[in-house]
Amino acid sequence: MSNRQIKSDVILIGAGIMSATLGTMLKELAPDWKITVFEQLDKAGEESSHELNNAGTGHAALCELNYTSEKKDGSIDISKAINVNEQFHVSKQFWSYLVNNQLINNPQDFIMPLPHMSLVQGADNVEFLKKRHETMTKNPLFQGMEFSDNPEKLKEWIPLIMQDRPADEAIAATKIDTGTDVNFGALTRMLFDHLKNKDVDINYNHSVQSMKRTSDGSWEVRVHDKDGCKMEYHTAKFVFLGAGGGSLELLQKSGIPEGKHIGGFPISGLFLVCKNQEVAEQHHAKVYGKAKVGAPPMSVPHLDTRYIDNKKSLLFGPFAGFSPKFLKTGSNMDLFASVKPHNITTLLAAGVKEMGLTKYLIQQLMLSKEQRMEELREFIPNAKSDDWDIIVAGQRVQVIKDTEAGGKGTLQFGTEVVNASDGSIAALLGASPGASTAVHVMLEVINKCFPQHVQEWESKIKEMIPSYGKSLAENPELLKKINESTDEALRLK
Ligand SMILES: Cc1cc2nc3c(=O)[nH]c(=O)nc-3n(C[C@H](O)[C@H](O)[C@H](O)COP(=O)(O)OP(=O)(O)OC[C@H]3O[C@@H](n4cnc5c(N)ncnc54)[C@H](O)[C@@H]3O)c2cc1C
Repeated sequence: MSNRQIKSDVILIGAGIMSATLGTMLKELAPDWKITVFEQLDKAGEESSHELNNAGTGHAALCELNYTSEKKDGSIDISKAINVNEQFHVSKQFWSYLVNNQLINNPQDFIMPLPHMSLVQGADNVEFLKKRHETMTKNPLFQGMEFSDNPEKLKEWIPLIMQDRPADEAIAATKIDTGTDVNFGALTRMLFDHLKNKDVDINYNHSVQSMKRTSDGSWEVRVHDKDGCKMEYHTAKFVFLGAGGGSLELLQKSGIPEGKHIGGFPISGLFLVCKNQEVAEQHHAKVYGKAKVGAPPMSVPHLDTRYIDNKKSLLFGPFAGFSPKFLKTGSNMDLFASVKPHNITTLLAAGVKEMGLTKYLIQQLMLSKEQRMEELREFIPNAKSDDWDIIVAGQRVQVIKDTEAGGKGTLQFGTEVVNASDGSIAALLGASPGASTAVHVMLEVINKCFPQHVQEWESKIKEMIPSYGKSLAENPELLKKINESTDEALRLK
């Protein structure tokens, strides 16, 4: 055992898309800072960020019906969709900067253009989609979105879905061609390769066990290697908990008051993956449906063309389920171990409130392959079981906390930054919209944790993200310019 104490300016815990993004941004903003990364697995991007552990949707609110809602007066609230779309534009600008400056290459290895579609059945839902389309297309961010309830048009858009459907079925869809499929696993690996070239100290097979404050206000983290034979102590003025489902445990270990009264609600996932390439080739879109009553909003299965290892594939899911693990490679004790005296009443309140959701997730977990095929057949009526395999997706850990609006033990579906008031430590919790908004969320970390540097860094941030601080929805000219330049850099046209 070694008791070395090694100093860095920044420690990033976890080698997923969040640490990759923050590390890459900080290397541009403060090239001389010493950055050290610890990852408990043997490679980068192996947990939620891996391409087969998430759905790879570049979430821009172009197809996900849960980002819009119908108000009591019948009008459609698209404010959340606007936010998500603006945030994805921030990601695309940063990725374009990286490509234009040859910090990463071959954008088609991680991002591909792909139509995004919303599909609904039933007269009421068709009416809702039509109204939603009318509202969204008034906003410059959603220009180009088409609506159709004409079966002939729908056959052109989604032939596989329209095969063998009753002619009188009320069915409609919207389609927009500016959607994307993003391989977040490939992007994470590219960013870590880049960080390695920039002399970032990346330690795989190294797990952070605990952390504490030192007398000079730095953080000391205790790190074990895979076999537990080597133990090291590392210190830094700033620590980022980018450990995905492992972030909550580390946040609790830090002992900061901001980390109290927070719990985690794990949701597991499964995909059906098509092994018949002939079938996969007949579909070319991400098609999102409407959540069933009781289903968590971000867990509506969707039928997605995916580009994995430069090959077109077809996935349906994720089917949500219940598992007490906080990471796919985690332990069945994770949920139990996250219960602390300070969050027990919050968790109990959520337990009572979310009884229906828990029941739903347990029922989902029990579904047989044939029952899952029945759900798929709502999209592809003649799907054959032999053409599809089941694979396990990543774990999501949704935040449970007390909020003014929702009261004690409210389940959150977003992605949240929790940081110490002095900015010395920040954790990324939650899962959705997740990886797509990593750049926006890491800018939030930078603003909250490095306020003393933000002014000095502003011009560089604007070079990386030209729309920084501006609303694209309110600046159609800027939006047009940015779309042209990101489409060119990322080869989306
Ligand atoms: C089923 C599913 C579908 C999704 N679909 C989408 C989608 O379509 N679009 C989208 O944008 N987002 C999607 N997401 C969300 C997205 O995948 C996540 O938001 C994102 O990958 C989180 O990245 P991360 O870096 O925080 O975590 P991760 O990628 O999970 O990385 C965390 C890393 O920390 C490591 N770690 C944990 N504890 C420790 C420790 N103590 N010491 C050292 N290392 C540690 C882990 O091994 C892991 O490698 C989906 C997620 C799931 C699960």
